[in-house]
Amino acid sequence: MSIDLGNPRVISEEEKAVLLASPRGYCAGVDRAVITVEQALELYGAPIYVRKEIVHNKHVVGDLRERGAIFVNELDEVPSGATVVFSAHGVAPTVHTDAAARGLKTIDATCPLVTKVHLEARRFALQDYDILLIGHAGHEEVEGTMGEAPEHTQLVEGPADVANLVVRDPAKVVWLSQTTLSVDETMETVAALRTRFPEMIDPPSDDICYATQNRQLAVKEISEDTDLVIVVGSGNSSNSVRLVEVALEAGARDAHRVDDASELQDAWFEGVGSVAVTSGASVPEKLVEGVLAALTERGYPSPQIVHSADESLIFALPKELRRDLKAAGR
Ligand code: SF4
Repeated sequence: MSIDLGNPRVISEEEKAVLLASPRGYCAGVDRAVITVEQALELYGAPIYVRKEIVHNKHVVGDLRERGAIFVNELDEVPSGATVVFSAHGVAPTVHTDAAARGLKTIDATCPLVTKVHLEARRFALQDYDILLIGHAGHEEVEGTMGEAPEHTQLVEGPADVANLVVRDPAKVVWLSQTTLSVDETMETVAALRTRFPEMIDPPSDDICYATQNRQLAVKEISEDTDLVIVVGSGNSSNSVRLVEVALEAGARDAHRVDDASELQDAWFEGVGSVAVTSGASVPEKLVEGVLAALTERGYPSPQIVHSADESLIFALPKELRRDLKAAGR
């Protein structure tokens, strides 16, 4: 018996197009965290210890490792007296306490927008609210935020969790969220929470950060009716993984996440005319350039940039590092 596999449609040069999302790639918090480790290496010399991946991108981590950064999971892997950088995702207060007890010099590269959520959690806990934190179990940011008020905080991963929640006073409930979630999915979870707890209050301002929101908006703009969306980003990068989901929900016929151009697969391009490209908030632009070069090799034209938001935010380096840079006359 022969099986007819069919012939993939041949795409003419005229039908091929590449859309490139803007904004994409590095956000202000990632930029600051990476520069923090680079400057610490220059100022204090290698090795510099970093608790967890400084940002969720394997190329960035690999590059810093080559330059003398040592990534550890927990502080007990750091020799006493050494310098340790806390990642952009933030840490629980117990981590600061442990570091002080072990005599470690710390540089806190937590993104200020994650710190903002920590401060909200602390404030609502002081006011004795039950905090419903929407986020992904096991994500470092969630562990750090929950650590601010463990007695007051419950994790909500999605609408399915809502029925099982137990709060002390339904009139004193607030929801907060991880900074890198899908805006649309989070709103579905909030709606389910609101049905169960009508008096629940909202965070004082958006917890899902500007960079996450802008990259989701940008991927929506390039996904509608597009044959294939390529998202550059690592598998443990929450915001990169969300971009694939958002692309498919926005109408892309297919979407894949790749760490770099080497992961592009021939089968994805069969019969594909329009390709759109974007990248997560922890992705260096050279990786996007690599994907665009691979598209050129496959006969696709230069990209057309689709601009959907302006970004100009820059964060100052952590104060401990600024102080030491200044003392060193840099
Ligand atoms: S994705 Fe948002 S919260 Fe995370 S580091 Fe970037 S700006 Fe900060």
